[in-house]
Amino acid sequence: MVCMNKTGIDEKNDSRRKSADAPDLRCIDKLLLLRVKEMSRTFAIHTLGCKLNYSESSSIACCLTENGFTKVQFKEKAELYVINTCSVTQEADKECRQIVRSVLRRAPGAFIAITGCYAQLKPEEIAGIEGVDLVLGASEKFNLPLYLDNLDKKGFAQIHSCEIEKVNIFHPAYSSGDRTRSFLKVQDGCDYNCSYCTIPLARGGSRSDSIANVNRNVYSIALKGIKEIVLTGVNLGDYREPQSGAGFFELIQTLEDTKAPVRFRISSIEPNLLKDEIIEWVRRSQKFVPHFHIPLQSGADAILKKMRRRYLRDLYTEKVTRIKSLMPHCSIGVDVIAGFPGETDEYFSESYEFLRSLDVSYLHVFTYSERDNTSAVLSDLESDSIPMEIRRKRNRMLQILSEKKERRFFEQNVGSVRPVLFEARNRNGFLYGYTDNYIRVKTVFNKALQGQVAKVELGELTTDGMMSAALAKPIIPDFISQGIDAETGYLTVPAALENIN
Ligand code: SF4
Repeated sequence: MVCMNKTGIDEKNDSRRKSADAPDLRCIDKLLLLRVKEMSRTFAIHTLGCKLNYSESSSIACCLTENGFTKVQFKEKAELYVINTCSVTQEADKECRQIVRSVLRRAPGAFIAITGCYAQLKPEEIAGIEGVDLVLGASEKFNLPLYLDNLDKKGFAQIHSCEIEKVNIFHPAYSSGDRTRSFLKVQDGCDYNCSYCTIPLARGGSRSDSIANVNRNVYSIALKGIKEIVLTGVNLGDYREPQSGAGFFELIQTLEDTKAPVRFRISSIEPNLLKDEIIEWVRRSQKFVPHFHIPLQSGADAILKKMRRRYLRDLYTEKVTRIKSLMPHCSIGVDVIAGFPGETDEYFSESYEFLRSLDVSYLHVFTYSERDNTSAVLSDLESDSIPMEIRRKRNRMLQILSEKKERRFFEQNVGSVRPVLFEARNRNGFLYGYTDNYIRVKTVFNKALQGQVAKVELGELTTDGMMSAALAKPIIPDFISQGIDAETGYLTVPAALENIN
C-alpha cells in the first residue's frame, strides 16, 4: 500500500524522507522555541492619556517584541515595565509614582522605564521617583530597546531626552490591542499656541506621515481583521503630506479608494480646519462614518480669545449647522474646558447657553488646571484664576448638559436602522458595539455577529446609557465587500502590499 500524505507525496519513496536515526526536526524546533522562550525577557506596558499614546504604546511594544521580549499583562510579574505617560492629567506626577510603587511591590527587581509626554516635560522630576531606571523623551521613546542591554538596576535613573524644538521626525504607530478598531496615527505635534496647552511643549511641531505609508498601515491593520480605523493626530486637520504638501482633504479622498475592508472615523478636528469640502465628502463617503468630534473649549468669544483659539463661536455654529443640514443623523462631540482664568459667571452662562442651543450629541468636559510653562500660567491670566470648587461645579453642570444632549440624540435615533460594528467579546451574554454615528449599542450575544458589521434597528435606551439593538438583517456593506475575493471569501490585498507585516 502506498501512503500518501496530505501533500500527495509518496512517503515511502520520497528521498527527502527522514531516516529512522535522523532527529525529528519538528522536535528540535519545539525545543529551540522553548529555550528562546526561557531566555526571552518579559515586559509589560501601561498607557496613560490619549488615543495617540495608545497607538504609540502598541508601537513600542512591537519594537520590544521584535527585539526578543515577550509581552505579559501589566498586572503580571515582568522583568521590564514601561509606563507611557501623559501630561494632561493634573496629577501625572502622583499617578506615575503610584504606578511605580505598585510595580515594585509586585516585582521588586524589575527595570522601570518611563516614556511619553510627562517624561519629555519633567524628566528630572520623574528620574527622582524611587525605583525608576530610565526616562526617555519624545525623540528617544521608540529607541527603547537600544537602552536595554541588561536590565540591571543601578539605583539611579538615566535620562535620554533632547530639546523639543529638535524633535521633528514622524514615527508611525497604530494600536492593535482591540480586535475591533485601531487608532492610526497620521499626524503628530502642533504649531498652534493655545494658551492652556502643553502638547506643543511635549510633542513638538506639527508633522505627518506620507500618504503611501498611511495606506500601507491601513492594509496592515485590515490584515489583522480589524474593521474600523480611527485617524488620529494631535492636530489632525493640520495633516500635511511631507513630499507633496497634500492636506487632510486629499488624505481622506485617497483613503476612500482603499480596497481594505475597513470603515474610517475622524478622531477630532479643529473647527477652523474642518473645511466644508471635508463635511461634504463625509456625507457622500462609503467609508467615512457620520461622526465629528470638534473641540470648542468655550462658548464665550472673550474666553476663546484668551485661550488663543483660532476661531470664534459663529464659525463653530456655522460648522454644526452645515453638518446637520447635510447629515441630520450625524453625531457631533464637543470638547469644553470649565473654569479657564477669566471665565466669570457671566462668561460661563454665555458659554453654557451657547452649548445648550447647539445641535450636538455629547460633550467631553475638562476642568481647567494650571500647567507649568503655558502662557496661561506665565501671563497675567493667572490673576483671574477661578477657585477650584467653582471649576468643579461648572464641570458637573456641563456633564449634566452632556447627558441630556446624548439622551436627546439617542431618542432621535430610536427606530432607525444603522450599521453596527460589534466587538468580539461575550460580556455576560451580551455583545456591544458602535453604530456608524457613534451610538453605543448592546444586544443579546450572537456568535455570528462577533467582530462583524450588521444592520440593526435601534430600540429603547438601556439603563446603562446605551441603546438596545435588534438585528435588521445581516449585511456586508459595499465598502466591506470591496476587499473580499468573491470566490474564496478571503481579503484581497494589492500585490505590492502582500508582504507587509
Ligand atoms: S490646537 Fe491648541 S489645544 Fe490642540 S494641541 Fe494644538 S495647542 Fe494644544
